[in-house]
Amino acid sequence: MVANSTYSAIFTAQKQFFESGATRSYSFRKKQLKKLKQAVEVYEDRITQALYDDLHKASAEAYATEIGFLHEEINYTLNHLKDWMRPDKVRTPLVAQPSKSRIYHDPLGLTLIIAPWNYPFQLLFSPLVGAIAGGNCAILKPSEEVPQTALVAEALVKEFFPEEYIAVVQGQGHVVVPKLMDHFAFDHVFFTGSVPVGKIIMAAAAKHLTPVTLELGGKSPCIIDETADLEKAASRIAWGKFVNAGQTCVAPDYVLVHHSKKEEFVQNVAEAIRKFYGDDPSISPDYPRMVNKKRFDAVVKYLSQGRILLGGQAKEEEKYIAPTLLDEVSPDDPIMQEEIFGPVLPILTFDKLQEVPAIVGKNPYPLALYFFSDDNRNQDYILNTIRFGGGCINDVLMHLGNPAIPFGGIGTSGFGAYHGKYSFDTFTHAKGILKTTTLLDIPFRYPPYTEKKEKYMKMFMK
Ligand code: NAD
Repeated sequence: MVANSTYSAIFTAQKQFFESGATRSYSFRKKQLKKLKQAVEVYEDRITQALYDDLHKASAEAYATEIGFLHEEINYTLNHLKDWMRPDKVRTPLVAQPSKSRIYHDPLGLTLIIAPWNYPFQLLFSPLVGAIAGGNCAILKPSEEVPQTALVAEALVKEFFPEEYIAVVQGQGHVVVPKLMDHFAFDHVFFTGSVPVGKIIMAAAAKHLTPVTLELGGKSPCIIDETADLEKAASRIAWGKFVNAGQTCVAPDYVLVHHSKKEEFVQNVAEAIRKFYGDDPSISPDYPRMVNKKRFDAVVKYLSQGRILLGGQAKEEEKYIAPTLLDEVSPDDPIMQEEIFGPVLPILTFDKLQEVPAIVGKNPYPLALYFFSDDNRNQDYILNTIRFGGGCINDVLMHLGNPAIPFGGIGTSGFGAYHGKYSFDTFTHAKGILKTTTLLDIPFRYPPYTEKKEKYMKMFMK
């Protein structure tokens, strides 16, 4: 168990380093981002192996969803950072003339980044890109559920960055995080994880009035209307659901398909699963496992909540659960009330699109929503009727890979956003400054107020 004094030493060293101003310049931030990129290249094999050991992730999947993803984020940030750092010029109202107004983007200071286990590398280091770009110091807390990845992350950081700038702390979240958040006033906490722990983080942050970003979960629906291209919908949904064995925060949680298209859709998904993983996915090198026994047990329970259309096999010793399609689930079953976070896909139907918002509303504020439709009016209807974090039309998951759009939740799926410029905004303070002249001093704002002064006020501030 790491003593509080170790955390205190890291925190004090980071505070001194930040206050020295060392992290502020563009050249420093650019150098650190390039260093991070180089570190990921040097550690690529070790990261890939660790992800296989922890989650049985195939190397192609590890590259696409974790390592390559991070490279893209770093490249995008390096290409735009100079522009983002420049103060924004904004207009000044007549009443404050003659003046100039600017928005400066100030570093926040000391940041704490807490990551989950499902994309354990990317979800630890992608927020770090924002923290570096914003000119901050950072303490990273990987998930204890993926010990190999957590160790590799620590080794990478230790080899490439001084602890006074970026440090990694290990251990169980309920032990380590309170030690950090109760005793030290961080300038920002960036948390990715479950809703219950998100609430604990927010309560802990309140003690020091520390701002938080909460990237949480929820039940993300996949809606398919009668105009959709079913073959493409099925391939994309099968890929997005079964990648990482369903342990993806934005995985399609359940499908809501127009009743006339259900059978054809199910056949297409079954075909896509066979194409991806063969007749027996348990021997496919590309199909991952549940992270631990606890998650295996939780997901296995769902297999009895409905009628199995496809899959349903489970092997406890391997933490394997087959890609599974479920029919006849009840809205009262836990599977329709909890985030599934595993390779089990309930298929529900609707008759009229107008029924969909109420069905989705039983689990409000999904982190993502996916709508498959070739009808523009239907697309507008869904986009303008349901509140959700973000999503895709005619695809799944791909919105995550575009750093030009924000990624984040709404309501219970979290608040704040990141990726690209949105990470920079999250990890900086927008400081508004009005700079005025001393050559003249318009007197009408000063007491004693007179009728004439009031008349001027009304003239300028109409
Ligand atoms: P979790 O909330 O159990 O753990 C996340 C982190 O919090 C870990 O580092 C853990 O050590 C720490 N932690 C655990 N208990 C704690 C406590 N009592 N106090 C302080 N810290 C604590 O989440 P998880 O099981 O690792 O991840 C799965 C969840 O994360 C799912 O709900 C999923 O939807 C969500 N998630 C969201 C996103 C997103 O981007 N929105 C991405 C991935 C996962």
